[in-house]
Amino acid sequence: MQETTRPDINEQYTSATHASNLRVEADRKSSADILIAAGWAPARLGSALLRLHSEWDGASHPKFSKAAGMAVYLHDMAMLRGRLKSLPAVREQVAIQADRWGMENPLHVAASVLQWWLARQCQACNGTKFEVIAGTGRQSGKVCRVCHGSGEASVPCGEAGKRMAIFIDMCTDKARQQIRSRLHSHGR
Ligand SMILES: [Zn+2]
Repeated sequence: MQETTRPDINEQYTSATHASNLRVEADRKSSADILIAAGWAPARLGSALLRLHSEWDGASHPKFSKAAGMAVYLHDMAMLRGRLKSLPAVREQVAIQADRWGMENPLHVAASVLQWWLARQCQACNGTKFEVIAGTGRQSGKVCRVCHGSGEASVPCGEAGKRMAIFIDMCTDKARQQIRSRLHSHGR
């Protein structure tokens, strides 16, 4: 029986090693690296996503201030990156899925959607759902025009981003189900 029309992992590896752009920097992976890496099952990716979210929730999120300056901001960002230990593997896995779906620029989709997923508050109203009066930080009582009162930022990367957001939800649901069924079987 013909399993799939996709090249098997060895063929993928061979074509990837023959790719002329295989020399990549440590932080900027090409599609060649994505091909070589193996994809995880949704529940495994889901539990890594949940771990990443708790790392994000437990870390402070730097905001640039003119008074403190760019050097302090970049330092804070580097510290945050050190706290998000699950990020590189999760980003890679999300990019593998984007690549499987034939999305353009899989790493960009992965990074953008993950950033949205971790901090999905609307930037205009800070998630309060109402317009903030400029310079006061107080709400005007009018529904926020940017998020239309949802309090959430819209998913980046258009249709590709939406598809990925649904996939991320599916993976975290599977991970939660797995946790629940483990707790259940231990309780007996
Ligand atoms: Zn808003």
